[in-house]
Amino acid sequence: MSAVQRIAVLGATGSIGLSTLDVIARHPERYQAFALSAFSRLAELEVLCLRYRPTFAVVADAGAAQRLQAALQVAGLSTRVLWGDAGLCEVAAHEQVDAVMAAIVGAAGLSSTLAAVEAGKKVLLANKEALVMSGDLFMQAVRKSGAVLLPIDSEHNAIFQCLPGDYARGLSAVGVRRILLTASGGPFRETALAELESVTPEQACAHPNWSMGRKISVDSASMMNKGLELIEACWLFDARPAQVEVVIHPQSVIHSMVDYVDGSVLAQLGNPDMRTPIAHALAWPQRIDSGVSALDLFAIARLDFQRPDEERFPCLRLARQVAEEGGTAPAMLNAANEVAVAAFLERRIRFPEIARIIDDVLNLEAASTVESLDAVLAADARARARACEWLNRHG
Ligand code: NAD
Ligand code: MG
Repeated sequence: MSAVQRIAVLGATGSIGLSTLDVIARHPERYQAFALSAFSRLAELEVLCLRYRPTFAVVADAGAAQRLQAALQVAGLSTRVLWGDAGLCEVAAHEQVDAVMAAIVGAAGLSSTLAAVEAGKKVLLANKEALVMSGDLFMQAVRKSGAVLLPIDSEHNAIFQCLPGDYARGLSAVGVRRILLTASGGPFRETALAELESVTPEQACAHPNWSMGRKISVDSASMMNKGLELIEACWLFDARPAQVEVVIHPQSVIHSMVDYVDGSVLAQLGNPDMRTPIAHALAWPQRIDSGVSALDLFAIARLDFQRPDEERFPCLRLARQVAEEGGTAPAMLNAANEVAVAAFLERRIRFPEIARIIDDVLNLEAASTVESLDAVLAADARARARACEWLNRHG
């Protein structure tokens, strides 16, 4: 590796992308933003390019690429602007890239995240949907290429920090009894069930502890985020779904825990700020300043825990069900959820209908085994089509 590590930040204009650039900017002697991507916020990407002067920028289409290229040339930058999935995959696998921050939201990030994995990069995984969709194939690709996969999701980063270095020998071999996956419970943890019928996208996106993109904010409100994280944890740590227990912890100070057979429970704590897991993964196995202030336990004073209520959060039950089923089921759950969340954000459906759509889509087809990426993409497409049919029937 070169002295200065070159980082491709995929999804640079998003919440995780901007936090990543904030950490990178604190350590110019260690990290350089080699490539930045954005989908719709072209003006914001231009500002980021002027500040970070990346070798590559990647946008959605040829027209946007032309416009950005022209603007950057006028500003005297030699940044090359690429576009589309091909552009994302090219920078993710570029020989000069040391690490890839996979921070595109949803299935749209799958191919570029896999490209980084297949090229054997250090992959900082925020895009949990990619792993949920392609689980086994993804982990096989990691083993085959020797990619270093480091979790950015705060819970998985916490679990990684609480596990011994040789956990790949197997959880039981290293004395782990359970993984305790913490969840804030989101903004609707105590809302009356009848009121959930009328909650708005603004209320769903007003997370009590974390500031995040809109899709993951709605997922947090429905607890589908925790469901996706349960599946993510199973793949990352080779756990059975039954070994992962979800614990509601409203303060979001403990980011997750590992329960060992001798009765020890190790936890990772910190202020809820994604720059901590990002800095951890960037510098691992070293530690660097992330800009996050020290935890003030006296100000926090207490930590609470509750069992999740699956009547309130049916998405959690659906995710556990597909985690057990395996095969194409997680990809179908993820795709139906993406369509349903987008429809909720567009005010086409009510909040509880997110879970109903997913449930109906899953009931239409038994999970089949996954032999190839094409099978995953086909399952994703079928689930999207069925979720759209549901919307048309009920709209
Ligand atoms: P965001 O909506 O703030 O940003 C998403 C980024 O992806 C943007 O840069 C956008 O331009 C890009 N993008 C969107 N659609 C795209 C498409 N079709 N093609 C290419 N690029 C596209 O989202 P976020 O909150 O930063 O989350 C990003 C990922 O990280 C998600 O998978 C999320 O689950 C995960 N994550 C986020 C947080 C958090 O605190 N925000 C925490 C844990 C995990
Ligand atoms: Mg998380």
